[in-house]
Amino acid sequence: MMAQQQAQASYDAQDLWQKDRNHFVHPFTDFSVFHENGCDLITDSDGIYVEDAHGNRFIDGIAGLWCVNVGHGRAEIGQAMAEQATRMAYFSTFNNLSNAPATELAAKLAELAPAHLNHVFYSCGGSTANDATIRLVHYYFNRLGKPSKKRILSRTNAYHGTTYMAASLTGIASNNWQFDTLDLVTHLSEANCYRRPEGMSEAEYCDHLTDELEQTIDRLGADNIAAFIAEPIMGAGGVLVAPQGYHSRVQAICRANDILFIADEVVTGFGRLGHFFASEAVFETQPDIINVAKGLSSGYAPLGATLISDALYEVLSTPQGPGGVLSTGFTYSGHPVSCAAALKNIEIIEREGICENVLDVGPYLESQLKTLASHETVGDIRGSHFMMAIENVADKTTKELLPVEARVGDRVAAEAQKRGLIIRPVGHLNIISPPLIWTRQVVDEVVAILDDAFAATTRSLKADGCL
Ligand code: PMP
Repeated sequence: MMAQQQAQASYDAQDLWQKDRNHFVHPFTDFSVFHENGCDLITDSDGIYVEDAHGNRFIDGIAGLWCVNVGHGRAEIGQAMAEQATRMAYFSTFNNLSNAPATELAAKLAELAPAHLNHVFYSCGGSTANDATIRLVHYYFNRLGKPSKKRILSRTNAYHGTTYMAASLTGIASNNWQFDTLDLVTHLSEANCYRRPEGMSEAEYCDHLTDELEQTIDRLGADNIAAFIAEPIMGAGGVLVAPQGYHSRVQAICRANDILFIADEVVTGFGRLGHFFASEAVFETQPDIINVAKGLSSGYAPLGATLISDALYEVLSTPQGPGGVLSTGFTYSGHPVSCAAALKNIEIIEREGICENVLDVGPYLESQLKTLASHETVGDIRGSHFMMAIENVADKTTKELLPVEARVGDRVAAEAQKRGLIIRPVGHLNIISPPLIWTRQVVDEVVAILDDAFAATTRSLKADGCL
């Protein structure tokens, strides 16, 4: 397939590189690197592989950006999108208008989601799903006559996106450096088992975190808190798996205080942990709202969705009286082409048993990655199924980090890329979040590459006097 694509369009790599450097303001880009090197242009893809403009092929270890769950180059998704685009590419979903793929997808999501979530509000991606959610939550409490319930509880190192509200929910300090945020959010501690207080068991750590939640509710007053939002496994903040029972205890505390429990399943949804939705299947929670994006369309088209409980919907959908409408939404809410992509994507996940593949290969990926623990800089290997991270440290006993200037995550990623694998550097971490179609054989190939990459990184850190 890749050869066919090359035949369709061969790019002038140098010309593109120059245009990109001159004109494209990239998101999340370190300009010291950009000014020096520009960008790597990824031009082709097929299954688990991507290829750059020079014809170098890589195993995609990040599923694009945790999103290409069914893998690259799925002609049938392209076809579904093309058919929809030529039949009816776009029409409004405001003011009692709808389109077939958006309607079908809403019904399909209601079928797949936990039983009490039967209503879907569409957005353009994860940030807009979270942003729209907070507006809906505020609207909900306003309509219930509880307008003081406005504050949202989030967590340090949470990632919820970069619209103003989503960035405010986000708790990664470096993300918001030199940006402003809205004073609507209180951040609690992250659930970080690797760096939990010395001498605390995991069960005690769970108590410690839920105590903090209860104390925060007491301090702020439940009457002032609208919702708690969390990723079931924190993603960009470091693939942090909370202690056993944490999420269900948080949910119970929220319930007792009339605080809505929102699960941001933008990464964990659509198979990454072996289920369409991880909240109920893995974490035994029944969120009032679940947000999804990314794997919903496997990244073939931008799309986000907010799944709303029956109880919430009842309030949101109560007629306001003359002239009153639910005045929120996006031009592209329920975009027909994106929804057509999502429907085909879900069909593929079901037909090919992709969740089953994750349940089978995921534990193997975890166990094989753990063999890398012998490397000098590898402090922690964590995550679940197809959502994994490796934390690099200077000292395994003290867990002290390497100096930021050592750019250890970048070094590991560069060494892996030289050997034909793309993984994601995030500060001192490396994230592995592959397409959900990796087999055991691919895992073996990947782990062999990483083994060499970590060895080379240790050598280069030593040569540069960083270790
Ligand atoms: N929530 C989570 C958990 C995410 O990981 C992301 C993106 N990485 C977002 C929200 C934001 O999604 P988007 O970039 O599509 O706006």
